[in-house]
Amino acid sequence: MTEQSVLVVEDEEDIRELVSYNLQKEGYRVVGVASGEDALKALESNTPDLILLDIMLPGLDGLKICRKLKENPAFKAVPIIMLTAKGEEPDIVAGLNMGADDYVTKPFSPKVLLARAQAVLRRAAAEHDVSREEQGSQIVEIRDLMIHSGRHEVSVHGRLVELTATEFKLLQFLAQRPGWVFTRQQILDGVHGDNYAITDRAVDVQIVGLRRKLGSAGNYVETVRGVGYRFKE
Ligand code: CA
Repeated sequence: MTEQSVLVVEDEEDIRELVSYNLQKEGYRVVGVASGEDALKALESNTPDLILLDIMLPGLDGLKICRKLKENPAFKAVPIIMLTAKGEEPDIVAGLNMGADDYVTKPFSPKVLLARAQAVLRRAAAEHDVSREEQGSQIVEIRDLMIHSGRHEVSVHGRLVELTATEFKLLQFLAQRPGWVFTRQQILDGVHGDNYAITDRAVDVQIVGLRRKLGSAGNYVETVRGVGYRFKE
């Protein structure tokens, strides 16, 4: 795993150094700054994996920075842990409402801060994986048939079925709208860009091949006489 980086924004030097020292000891790369303005400057050149943000800062305070970052698509996903003092509850609530991930109240033990930091980083990584998965692949499961669009894989009863690229697109196209009838022309348009399916007749040929390969799941692809094809509802 690559080294993760943490930006520590804290104007009290003792705390900044204590926090930085403990994070470095755990293998994190740390950039420490003493003001909101310096934090924004540091962010111009480097996007950290986590930001520890003191609320009471001279000039631009922690809440203003938090708001700025959470409104900025480039930094929105960077988790923020607020460093707060006793009596700052309204600020904590405001920060959490703005999207800060967690907070620790001063004085805190380095161990507690580390544990919180690790938990927030783990959560952020898990969310990142989930959103990547959602973007890159969609899994359609219909009874014993599974279509994994990200991996371009189809399985029936858990057994992988080898499909050509055209057959895969054809199946994916029909299966995304079970019960809907598509004409051959609509299928051609939906599965465009292929070398094979260029005539109505070619669609029929592809369907025959697809059904055969799907075996027991082949009858999910139904012929609608005089119209075209549909995926069984
Ligand atoms: Ca402070």
